[in-house]
Amino acid sequence: MTDTIRISRFGFVNCYLVPEDDGLTLVDAMLPRSGKAVLAAAERAGAPIKRIALTHGHGDHIGALDELAAALPGVEVIISARDARLLDRDKSLDPGEPSSKVRGGVPGAKTKPTRTVVDGDRIGSLQVIASPGHTPGHVAFLDVRDRTLLCGDAYTTLGGVSTTAQRNVRFPLATMATWDRPTELASARMLAELDAARLAPGHGRIVESPRAAMEAALARAK
Ligand SMILES: [Zn+2]
Repeated sequence: MTDTIRISRFGFVNCYLVPEDDGLTLVDAMLPRSGKAVLAAAERAGAPIKRIALTHGHGDHIGALDELAAALPGVEVIISARDARLLDRDKSLDPGEPSSKVRGGVPGAKTKPTRTVVDGDRIGSLQVIASPGHTPGHVAFLDVRDRTLLCGDAYTTLGGVSTTAQRNVRFPLATMATWDRPTELASARMLAELDAARLAPGHGRIVESPRAAMEAALARAK
C-alpha cells in the first residue's frame, strides 16, 4: 500500500499526508494551531508538502490552512468549486439544491484556492469523488494506486463506522454538522460501492477492508 500518513490531534481530528513522486499532498488542514504538528510530520516523512487538498470547508478541516499556506510558499490549495464558497464564508444555496441549511463551523480562510476541482478530476494519484451531503461541495479522494478512500466526513469511524447522516452517540458532532442527510446518505452509498481497500476518515482510525462495515452503517441509517 501507499504509505498514507495519518496525523491525529486530540484523538478525534485527522488529516493525512499522501506521498507522491514530487512530495506530499496534505488532505485537510485540521484545527487552528495544528500547523506545527503537520509540518513536523512532513519533516519526519522527509518530503515537502506540495499541495493541500480539502474535502470540505468546515473549520476542523481548514483550521490550519492559513498558517500552513504562510509556512509553505507556493503550495497549491485545492477544494471543490462548490465548497470554495464556504472558504469565503458564503453559506448561500444554489437553485435546485436541497433547501437544508448549511451547518457546522464555517469560519472561512484568508487563503484562496489556487485550483478548484469537480468530480472525476485528479490531484496526483487522488481521484476526486463528489460526495455532497455533509456539505454541498464535499468531496472524497480515492488513491488510485492502492484504493485508499480518504472520505472526509462522509463517514466517521469513531465508535465504529458510521455515516454522518445518522445519529452516532460516540461522535455526534459530525452528524450535527451535516447539511442534507438524504444527500449525504446517497453519497455514502455510492462510496461504499467503490469497494475501497481502506477507509481513511476525517474523524477516527483508518479501517481496512471497510465495505461490510460501510454497508452495515447504511443499513442502520435507513
Ligand atoms: Zn465536516
